[in-house]
Amino acid sequence: MRDENCLFCKIIAGEIPSSVVFENEKVFAFKDINPQAPVHIIIVPKDHIACADEINSVNSTSVAACFEAVPEIAKKMGLDNGYRVINNCGADGGQTVMHLHFHLIGGEKLSEKIV
Ligand code: AMP
Ligand code: ZN
Repeated sequence: MRDENCLFCKIIAGEIPSSVVFENEKVFAFKDINPQAPVHIIIVPKDHIACADEINSVNSTSVAACFEAVPEIAKKMGLDNGYRVINNCGADGGQTVMHLHFHLIGGEKLSEKIV
């Protein structure tokens, strides 16, 4: 399902350009426009789920598909020494785009200050 006003739905549809690194039936992944580390990939389910708080037993297959894609994307991006997967949820979580996404971050030793 798509949300017509959603930035990431438009990116998935190719209506807004992105630097795609992975795509399959359920998952789309692209480079973050404002990277926080040498490698910073946004992994999204193609189905529009607004945030982690909207995950349920019906749509969780899309979420699982995102995580199943992580090892392949990490390998493709050369993250052989580890990485971090982050989700921001809602206002307090710092979420700015209301389409569920996972930040795959690495390419350097990351700060141990947050989790
Ligand atoms: P969040 O703050 O967790 O909602 O993350 C949203 C992320 O989307 C931020 O890291 C942004 O840099 C990234 N972003 C916003 N617009 C674009 C875009 N057009 N292409 C790629 N990444 C984007
Ligand atoms: Zn969306």
